[in-house]
Amino acid sequence: MSTDFHQEFNVLSEKVIGAGKMPEGFSLKENIQNPFLNPSFIASRLEYSMMKSIENLDEEYQKFEKKFVNSHNAVFWASDYNDVFSNLKYLFKAQKAKSVRLPNVNASTIFRELGIKYFLHEEKINLSEEGAIQFFPVDMLFSDNGSILLLNQSVNSYQFLSNSKTNVFFATINQIICNSDWAEIIQQIVSYRNNAGRQDMILFNGSSNCNNYLFIIDNQRTSILQHKELRPALTCLSCGRCNDVCPVYQTIGDEPYNNVFTGPIAHISLPYLETVETYKHLTYACTLCGRCEEVCPISLPIRDMIIWSRQKFVNDGSIDKNQRRMISVLKKNLLNRGKLNRSKFLRRHLFYKYMSSEISRSRRMPVLANDTFNKDYKIKTES
Ligand code: SF4
Ligand code: SF4
Repeated sequence: MSTDFHQEFNVLSEKVIGAGKMPEGFSLKENIQNPFLNPSFIASRLEYSMMKSIENLDEEYQKFEKKFVNSHNAVFWASDYNDVFSNLKYLFKAQKAKSVRLPNVNASTIFRELGIKYFLHEEKINLSEEGAIQFFPVDMLFSDNGSILLLNQSVNSYQFLSNSKTNVFFATINQIICNSDWAEIIQQIVSYRNNAGRQDMILFNGSSNCNNYLFIIDNQRTSILQHKELRPALTCLSCGRCNDVCPVYQTIGDEPYNNVFTGPIAHISLPYLETVETYKHLTYACTLCGRCEEVCPISLPIRDMIIWSRQKFVNDGSIDKNQRRMISVLKKNLLNRGKLNRSKFLRRHLFYKYMSSEISRSRRMPVLANDTFNKDYKIKTES
């Protein structure tokens, strides 16, 4: 793609061309042959289309439902897993179902988020390849044609989909985009997650042989949506690239999150999806190095969102008095490098007296070096 094209695109994007529409003369389909030929263009267009859809969720869902809902397809809005489960119980009862076919249960975030395996176990519903009802995690909904994107499907999934008596799809409210031309690009981006290379993809908009129920689940995502500054987090495609480069995630691993969501985006979303009290510390567990943004295929402004959340928690008083006092003492002293270098006592006192009570609640205190970085550096370079 020539520089002229980039310039032209920049001008077009500044003028904010319509959601999902491509600049004149540009064929998305051609770029699909090699989407990473021009990654910054693809990233900015995709992020633009996704943000437009997030900003206009009501409208997008109205368009989607108009195309999707018919005598065989229905949409259920669920505020949380209780809504999902009560509707599923009703469905099982109405269909006298004893088993369910549930592909990708461990690979699917939505199934793990809902704890669907435990629910089925409690309801004494078996998992079986021959289950009369099939469950599918959704990868994206397209409002322009009312279709559902299903990725990482087995070869015979389409047959199963078209021939089963009942299909149940699970999407979250943020999984909608206005233009189905993005399907293959999304497929390529998401394929990184499962190390799967190019994944099998199904674009499904119903079949007259079966009944299709689609759950659109909130589960607290609207508490992120309320904050304009955090909305980009809802467009994350969960590809996992940022997890692989984040020094914090690479050091602590999955366990401390105690959640299905991990890595940079979880540092932003978990305080809102769960509780601020339980997860606010994640907002501060970031070095702001920006490595996540460098690899993000849709260039999400992760650091801006983290900084905004930090400010919000301080302004809201979510950071308690002791923590605020500790941070202001630390700030005062850390900004005085000379003082800090001179005083071993100050370093140790500050670190262990003020910080240990906070840090050691959830993790082990790191061991402080005996000498300052400057001194260590001088010794190393002189030797
Ligand atoms: S900016 Fe924060 S979240 Fe992103 S890679 Fe660096 S430490 Fe991780
Ligand atoms: S923030 Fe970007 S890199 Fe990280 S999972 Fe989401 S889309 Fe992928």
